Amino acid sequence: MKEYLDDKQRERVLIVDDTPAHLRSLSRILTELYDVVIAKTGEEALEMVTKTDIDLILLDLVLPGISGFEVLAKLKINEETKRIPVIFITSSDSPEDEMQGLALGAADYIRKPFIDIIVKMRIALQMQLIQQMRIIESYGFRDGLTGVNNRRSFDQMIGAEWARAVRNKEPLGMLLLDIDYFKKFNDTYGHLNGDACLKTVAHIMRDSVKRGGDFVFRWGGEEFAILLPNTHICGTVAVAEQIRKNIENAPIKLDSGDVYVTISIGAGAIIPQNEMQKTEFKEFYEYIDKALYKAKANGRNRVETICGFGQKQECD
Ligand code: GH3
Ligand code: MG
Ligand code: MG
Repeated sequence: MKEYLDDKQRERVLIVDDTPAHLRSLSRILTELYDVVIAKTGEEALEMVTKTDIDLILLDLVLPGISGFEVLAKLKINEETKRIPVIFITSSDSPEDEMQGLALGAADYIRKPFIDIIVKMRIALQMQLIQQMRIIESYGFRDGLTGVNNRRSFDQMIGAEWARAVRNKEPLGMLLLDIDYFKKFNDTYGHLNGDACLKTVAHIMRDSVKRGGDFVFRWGGEEFAILLPNTHICGTVAVAEQIRKNIENAPIKLDSGDVYVTISIGAGAIIPQNEMQKTEFKEFYEYIDKALYKAKANGRNRVETICGFGQKQECD
């Protein structure tokens, strides 16, 4: 799930049609409102959705290779694409086709020839539904205290991130971060100030990760996790070190004055081999957790990794 509420961008519509005249007229109708990308076959469309963030798909029913129905069925069984609304565009006026499309999970059905204003209104309605769904979801997936993603959000996202790394043969970086001596902080300054400290630390983490796909999660208590897609171990450690420094140097502003805290970090990166992420992920997580334990044991306020985990990764 992306941080949709934070940065609102133009939505992107993918038009899948093999007839140049239809592509032209749909693009003309939509470009003033949306980012428009096009695909001329179903195969091209399926490839495109894995590479680009698409908010809505206008899909022709009859295509030269695989049919619009097959494209829709494939989109629906993929965790990453199943929630993209698909509107069928077709010259067929057969109720069977319409029924089949809707049964497969199409969001709507538009008949050719298009009437510009109807196309615009139907797409706008779908976009509005997506926005509402994202707002609702973002509440359930945010940590109430710090505003970063919660553990539930991690459980929801890890499958798709893992699958993407497998498919693209990309590394996935992950950090586990734990505030040092936080019990003492609570005992000294009180629980409310402890909460203020958690908020500050979470916000520094969130501001320290720069790429759109990087995510910060509150893992529980004073522990956090960060996912860094497409990041080798060297990059992962560099990000961890930057976060460690940023937190060490950031004043926690309490009524009684500024105080400072430090964190310990376990870091790891993996190029996952198979979609069966449960056992492979568990092993990956345990290595990072061990690395965090090592950082604590070696004096805290430090970043550690465990050598020899996963495939050798070349760093730039
Ligand atoms: P270490 O350096 O080994 O990590 O020591 P620590 O004291 O940070 O770790 P420990 O696990 O012993 O204590 C964690 C403390 O975090 C205990 C608990 O009271 C506090 N804590 C957990 N969740 C919250 C919270 O939501 N708010 C506040 N204020 N404190 C919390
Ligand atoms: Mg802890
Ligand atoms: Mg701690």
